Amino acid sequence: VRPILEVRDVKKYFPTGRRRPPVKAVDGVSFHVYPGETVGLVGESGCGKSTLARLIVRLLTPSSGTIRFDGQDVVAAGGSQLRRLRRDLQMVFQDPYSSLNPRLTVREIVGEPLLVHGVARGRQMERQVEELLEAVGLRPEHARRYPHEFSGGQRQRIVIARALALKPRLVVCDEPVSALDVSVQAQILNLLQDLQDRFGLTYIFIAHDLAVVQNISDRIGVMYLGRLVELARADELFERPLHPYTRALISAVPVPDPEAAARRERIVLRGEVPSPARPPAGCRFHTRCPLAVDRCRTEVPEWREVGPGHWVACHLAGEGEVAGRGVTAAPP
Ligand code: SF4
Ligand code: MG
Repeated sequence: VRPILEVRDVKKYFPTGRRRPPVKAVDGVSFHVYPGETVGLVGESGCGKSTLARLIVRLLTPSSGTIRFDGQDVVAAGGSQLRRLRRDLQMVFQDPYSSLNPRLTVREIVGEPLLVHGVARGRQMERQVEELLEAVGLRPEHARRYPHEFSGGQRQRIVIARALALKPRLVVCDEPVSALDVSVQAQILNLLQDLQDRFGLTYIFIAHDLAVVQNISDRIGVMYLGRLVELARADELFERPLHPYTRALISAVPVPDPEAAARRERIVLRGEVPSPARPPAGCRFHTRCPLAVDRCRTEVPEWREVGPGHWVACHLAGEGEVAGRGVTAAPP
């Protein structure tokens, strides 16, 4: 199968002023997304995942590297090709409170992309809005109301309806449930999965928490300080994590069974995430890695495929070395 999205060595540096190093928000990321799948991207705040999301939907342009959607160059696209791409690539933002204009009705919010792209207007637009509202579990009469009349979960449904208005093919969901109550999160995740099946959508699903993407993702990529450090099928990543950072994240995912929790390896990382303006030399994770050896401080680990579809950037991964060593006993 041909990938629908190809991201190759993408970098995004933000200048911070004269004589100061730029923030290397995304610093050499490569991965593919296949049609119909969900790829989760996980990492702590500041790892570059939201910047990467905005690069993919062309809300930002990369400093270097290539992004191709369905074979087309997303970065170079202009004119009618860019308008077409803007329909195909949509984003669902994190915060349903700030991403909806309080002065507009739901009809105006969800109908806006239809008007802007000349897809529908008047009664036809209204009908399409009503269909979209029903698709996300709201009612047609909600179209007359304003965002403040809805709960957080309902607002996120409105945001999703708007993102689907133009029948996109790839939807980048940037922490779509992080601002919601836990009880509501599962409903929105279920809705997103239903919509994926119904409309044949491809998702990139961004979260700071592995637990959120664990069930929804076919594959999961883990980011640290502007780079991908590991990418694998979701089950493979949980059963055979190779990067010490991935293992630390997995060890923080709550498990309900206390016995299983007690048996499990627990990795607490020391220190803070360094500044993306001054990332450590060599492996960027070496300042916090319980397994770091000398070469980690000078040599950048290569992004390589160590098993079918299992990618990792760690000097020690893939040779049975990481798995066989006692990460658990890492001193603080
Ligand atoms: Fe740790 Fe070295 Fe692997 Fe980086 S390359 S994750 S510092 S062992
Ligand atoms: Mg799915």
